[in-house]
Amino acid sequence: MNRSDFLKHVAWISGWAIFASAMKHGEPSPFTELRNGVGKFSMQGGTIGWFVNDDAIAAIDSQFPDPAGEFVSGIRSFGAGPEKFLFNTHHHGDHTGGNQVFERKGYHIIAHTNVPMLQERSARANETENNQAYAKTVFDREYELDLGNETIHAKYYGPAHTKGDSVIWFRNANIVHTGDLIFNRRYPFIDRDGGALITGWIDLLETVYSEADAETLFIFGHGNPEFGVTGLRADLLYMRDFLSHLLEYTQRGILEGKNREELRRIRYFETFPDHESPSDFLSLPRNIDAAWRELTDAD
Ligand SMILES: [Zn+2]
Repeated sequence: MNRSDFLKHVAWISGWAIFASAMKHGEPSPFTELRNGVGKFSMQGGTIGWFVNDDAIAAIDSQFPDPAGEFVSGIRSFGAGPEKFLFNTHHHGDHTGGNQVFERKGYHIIAHTNVPMLQERSARANETENNQAYAKTVFDREYELDLGNETIHAKYYGPAHTKGDSVIWFRNANIVHTGDLIFNRRYPFIDRDGGALITGWIDLLETVYSEADAETLFIFGHGNPEFGVTGLRADLLYMRDFLSHLLEYTQRGILEGKNREELRRIRYFETFPDHESPSDFLSLPRNIDAAWRELTDAD
């Protein structure tokens, strides 16, 4: 083999090694490194955020049992712990469903004080009480975790997507995990039964925007496939504008004497053409229901 063929062979081998390591079960790796030890993991359910250094692993949200199993074994190729932490951004099953898997691996679970109560209530309604693991540490306003070269800061801003949402700040990396406070260009779930408040959500997005800077990288709970689950602070104002438009549309209809069914007939807002509706559950009519309930104090 001459030198040129040898180099091609080496390139082919290393290319294959990279390709092979990225492929598991025929799928691209769910792990993506972002910067400064922080990354994201996407498989099924709300995006997991993660941080590793020599001393600790911290994860944000747990998806469901199967992806949680993939996460807790796969993250070991980035760092071994030994300290392990899991934050839940809120109680929904696609963010807490893998908690038991994490807990069995020694992760200490942290969440806003309303999360265990809301999680238990929906587990009772869905008869999934045996599949839950709850936060052992809870906080009212904020919680700070010092991990040496990174400080993780969880903050509660009041009711928004639920009444237990935290925004998780990786201070050194300048990365923020929003949980479901951002559905990136996708009609969101507005959980009125879980204490959601659209006006609070709008205020929250403006506050987080002002606390971030132009370099801040955001990890979103959900996004449409074209726009993805990461972005910049301008995306927060886009979501704010959508929620404001939703409230205005619904309020105008109420003032014009329209009933709820008439208002629900619209499928898309023309001013937000890139919003995706993957199911009836995440759709504009459902959003209008939530806005109606908030504006009329209806059940
Ligand atoms: Zn949610």
